[in-house]
Amino acid sequence: MKFELIQLPYATNALAPTISQQTIELHHGKHLQAYVNNLNKMIEGSHFEKTDLETIVRESEGSLFNNAGQVLNHNLYFTQFSPQGGGAPSGALAKAIAEAWGSLALFQKEFEAAGAGLFGSGWVWLAADGNGKLFITKEANGSNPVTKGLKPLLGFDVWEHAYYLDYQNRRAEHLHELWKIVDWKAVEARF
Ligand code: MN
Repeated sequence: MKFELIQLPYATNALAPTISQQTIELHHGKHLQAYVNNLNKMIEGSHFEKTDLETIVRESEGSLFNNAGQVLNHNLYFTQFSPQGGGAPSGALAKAIAEAWGSLALFQKEFEAAGAGLFGSGWVWLAADGNGKLFITKEANGSNPVTKGLKPLLGFDVWEHAYYLDYQNRRAEHLHELWKIVDWKAVEARF
């Protein structure tokens, strides 16, 4: 098996009540595990066995793209949270957010609106270009900003499996609550 289920950097109950233990266990242990299993089966015997995950996402389509994209998305997602999260970014990322949106609060408002307004399943991302300019991108289903030549920094999952047990139909409320557990140090390290 080339790709393995990423280890959580916190206990499954550590992000509650923002994300419940049950949601983490299903989302990580069942949904992500299924994407990893599918991806490994699909690349077996193909030239993608020798490439990295981002390359597979950039160069594939159809079911392979969907599963590879979701493995990349969730690997980033589950490693950007911390029970000690929240607050604000610092350094170069804080500066770039202020340049692009005026303030962290204005960025967060636009990010939440993008996620709440995405029709169907997908992701909202904070992503950077090669010059460090920041963008908010909406990605349908399993897509990721790497398909646009951008580096993904922070992603909120708006698939119903990410929030329905805890927030039912209240996607906007879920997105607003997620700021409390964002590990900005982890996000800054991707910038
Ligand atoms: Mn998900």
